[in-house]
Amino acid sequence: MLSVSKALFQALAASKGLKTIASRYGMRSERSFARRFVAGETVDEAIAAARELEATGLSQTLDYLGESVATMAEADAATRTYIGLLNTIAASGIGRNVSVKLTQLGLNVDRATCVDNLRRILDPATTHGFFVRLDMEDSRYTQVTFDIFETLWQQGYRNAGVVVQSALYRSIEDTRRMDALGARVRLVKGAYKEPRSVAYQSKAQVDAAFVEIMQLLLSEGTSPAIATHDPAMIEATKKFAAARGIAADRYEFQMLFGVRRDLQLALKSEGYRVRVYVPFGREWYPYFMRRLGERPANVGFVLRSILRER
Ligand SMILES: Cc1cc2nc3c(=O)[nH]c(=O)nc-3n(C[C@H](O)[C@H](O)[C@H](O)COP(=O)(O)OP(=O)(O)OC[C@H]3O[C@@H](n4cnc5c(N)ncnc54)[C@H](O)[C@@H]3O)c2cc1C
Repeated sequence: MLSVSKALFQALAASKGLKTIASRYGMRSERSFARRFVAGETVDEAIAAARELEATGLSQTLDYLGESVATMAEADAATRTYIGLLNTIAASGIGRNVSVKLTQLGLNVDRATCVDNLRRILDPATTHGFFVRLDMEDSRYTQVTFDIFETLWQQGYRNAGVVVQSALYRSIEDTRRMDALGARVRLVKGAYKEPRSVAYQSKAQVDAAFVEIMQLLLSEGTSPAIATHDPAMIEATKKFAAARGIAADRYEFQMLFGVRRDLQLALKSEGYRVRVYVPFGREWYPYFMRRLGERPANVGFVLRSILRER
């Protein structure tokens, strides 16, 4: 069921017509549907959302939306936006943490340029004390993302981290390698529809792998992030940490902007660290469609919102 819905929304995400309609209504007003998951189209809106989160004791990571760019010029523009974003964040006083996708920096166009672009971001990020998370995209990019990350790590870049998706068979090995390096890992289930040749297809298997990798990260990893809204995964993490005497400041939970806000605050009030992933920018459509695919019930609120606005 989950994989059918992911496949459907992945296909819909490719529809230009639907994108045009959604883009017209999605962010138009304060109450438009895309605002449920996207902080806004501008940096200022993102910073305002980050401030609100921090005022409630939650941390944040800002993500400038965009992926799969097709030209060097677009990759360069995204890189410049990130560099500007670092300056704006530093000046604003909010926490210094961003997330970035390699296909946004030109991975599909030219790998060497993509690596250069990433360095253009990591250098000022290092100077200003930022942490930069490389989001993980679909399985065509898993190996190359780790290759680029590990090359930069060997070159001394320590202010970046990666993401491991429990849906992929390979992830336990990737986790062991990252733990041995001392690299920071964010664990997620995986947002993309993947073939049977590389990924578990049932929720039970993805969840079992998530628990196994979570235990590995908590035991051997460096400041791991357990990124999920699934109460069963969160409970398993709390239990394992308590049984092993792992203090709550050795790891953090992460959740997406607009998803399970109640749970974000509940965990915080119980003394856990919680970071919220705050996406912003004009290219919100593919991100938004992945969120709908994870929980088709969300389609209802989108339709109600469009009807209200027409
Ligand atoms: C901080 C963060 C960063 C991420 N980065 C990446 C990444 O780099 N690469 C990647 O592939 N994936 C990433 N993801 C997405 C992740 O892979 C999952 O697709 C997503 O988190 C849904 O899985 P879940 O663990 O919440 O569990 P699920 O089993 O999907 O959901 C459990 C419960 O959570 C709630 N829930 C989940 N999603 C939604 C939603 N969209 N709307 C409302 N309720 C919802 C529902 O109550 C649901 O029953 C990230 C997720 C988070 C939280």
